[in-house]
Amino acid sequence: MGDLINELRWNPLLGHWIIVAGQRAKRPWRPSTAGEGCPFCPGSPETAPYGDWDVLTLPNKYPALIPNPEEPEPPEPPIYRNMAARGYCEVVVETPKHQGDLHNIELEHLAKVVRTFIKEYVRLSSIDFVKYVAIFRNKGKEIGVSLTHPHSQIYALPFIPPRIQVELRNFREYYEKAGKCLLCDIMDKELSLNKRIIYVNNSFIIIHPYYAMWPYELHVYPRRHITSIDFLNRDEVTDLADALRVATVTYENLFNREMPYIMVMHNKPSDGGEYSYYHFHIEFYQPYREPDKLKYRAGAETGFWVFTYDGNPETKRDELRNACSKGVSRINALGGCIGK
Ligand code: ZN
Ligand code: ZN
Ligand code: FE
Repeated sequence: MGDLINELRWNPLLGHWIIVAGQRAKRPWRPSTAGEGCPFCPGSPETAPYGDWDVLTLPNKYPALIPNPEEPEPPEPPIYRNMAARGYCEVVVETPKHQGDLHNIELEHLAKVVRTFIKEYVRLSSIDFVKYVAIFRNKGKEIGVSLTHPHSQIYALPFIPPRIQVELRNFREYYEKAGKCLLCDIMDKELSLNKRIIYVNNSFIIIHPYYAMWPYELHVYPRRHITSIDFLNRDEVTDLADALRVATVTYENLFNREMPYIMVMHNKPSDGGEYSYYHFHIEFYQPYREPDKLKYRAGAETGFWVFTYDGNPETKRDELRNACSKGVSRINALGGCIGK
């Protein structure tokens, strides 16, 4: 068996699943040059079979989860728990162009990327064992991304991720206590206060939240109460593409260079449960606290889940607003920065 072990192991101290994926240790640090070396450029062995494409969904070549895994050996001693690492790992190649960020993709093209996320979310959610569809985008070598060609990832998981479980519990408790949705209420108050909002279009807001854990963290919230991305109508899909372009151009304008970030989509689970109290949203985490200083996830954050925010969130909001308003005119965004 050796390195080829692939199973889920239960951490009984924390109550989470860990994906043990021995085969992923072998994945190469891949070259980032266009053409021959890039597996996501048109004409590469991975993309050639798909002919002419503009947005492409591919199976991940080094998947952490596979659709038909072998049942794992029972754990030893039997005090532990494991489970087959069953799931799907996909890559969405967002454009045939090798370079750039989301704001370098034309609005209509990025709307098509969003429709691809929706299609995969719906398709993977309908699979019986899939409990959660996690859509995310890692960008930059600081985040450990070996491929610069624009792409996102999708994991269809056989369990609900711990962070989502925490959000679900808090959304549910708020709904039971206040009789309304937590995020709808936050948006309502923030829009009238206008102290933390970065950008608004017809269907979305971008905010540097009061509860940011990372410097320059950005959240993208749909203004209409929906629980998952597949409830977006056609106009809202375009508005989401617009908001995503604004988020990344804001990051680029912050320090006048391409920025690394993590983008995650927080949808309701796909286990068939009732989650009407949940509000779909997208979060961006950006690791720099100053142009040349990375914020590390160290002892307090990793060992205790205690986050320190180095700085004043309201000052950083002003920096983000300035970077955003420069970006809004640069990319012809659909909305704007309201008020002062
Ligand atoms: Zn490429
Ligand atoms: Zn809501
Ligand atoms: Fe969230």
